[in-house]
Amino acid sequence: MSTESSLRADIVEIGRRMYARGYTASNDGNISVRLGGDRLLMTPKSVCKGFMSPDMMCVTDLDGRKLQGERDPSSEMLMHLEVYRQRPDVQAVVHAHPPIATGFAVAGIPLDRAVLAEVLTTLGSVPIAEYATPSTRELPEAVRKYIKAHDGMLLANHGALTVGGDLYSAYFKMETVEHFAKISLVARLLGRENLISREEVMRLQELRGTYGIAAPAPICADPADSPGAGAGDREDPATCQVVQAPAGSGRRLVPGLPDGSVQPAQRPGEEAEIRLTYRELSALIEDAIRSLR
Ligand SMILES: [Zn+2]
Repeated sequence: MSTESSLRADIVEIGRRMYARGYTASNDGNISVRLGGDRLLMTPKSVCKGFMSPDMMCVTDLDGRKLQGERDPSSEMLMHLEVYRQRPDVQAVVHAHPPIATGFAVAGIPLDRAVLAEVLTTLGSVPIAEYATPSTRELPEAVRKYIKAHDGMLLANHGALTVGGDLYSAYFKMETVEHFAKISLVARLLGRENLISREEVMRLQELRGTYGIAAPAPICADPADSPGAGAGDREDPATCQVVQAPAGSGRRLVPGLPDGSVQPAQRPGEEAEIRLTYRELSALIEDAIRSLR
């Protein structure tokens, strides 16, 4: 068990790293950790996370009452309290506004495509919690929908939230979210995003257990596997993680198409879809007409 003084020092160091990496500007962001006996240690309100000192932190109870500290606790305290209420396994919470991940949150694009094996084994999918006015009771409500099954999420038009079994685990997940967002952005700018097939995603899920990586929830079943079930049963973000991973028919990667969609798996005896440009189609028709003459 870490001592309170080492946890204070860890929060200072993580705040410094978040600010140095541009995950926060000015006084943005907040960090908290459980102390023993239903108490939390939390960053204070209106302080730049890059320039904190250990004595600035607040101690609160799980209802947010300040027990110790000269400054008031973070304005996003309600969101942190909600996470601790919903997830007894979570020891630490980190919130920041990393610019690429927040760009996805602004564009309304969740980071839920199966593209990186490391992300699938550590975080799974990163959904977007609905927009809520910061520092109000709306934000914990928006987070509640996803927090039971996810260790990282985007907050619509706001930022990102990650949780973990200790302070550094929660912080490293924030690094992973931003890194994942950066790579996804580059792939999309390059115009093609190959996806990891569903079969390979399931193999990676099994590896989580082998490596002892605790996942808060399994990946949701493929809708194609249970056609009788309602969509709500298959993809409930409170109980499983929705990951966009197409069936691969033996392939581990499914080739992406320039429009961002993926090539459908070709099944024997099934008519495969083909895509032609207008020019290619015209050339085929002209050929056919010529051969009739
Ligand atoms: Zn914020």
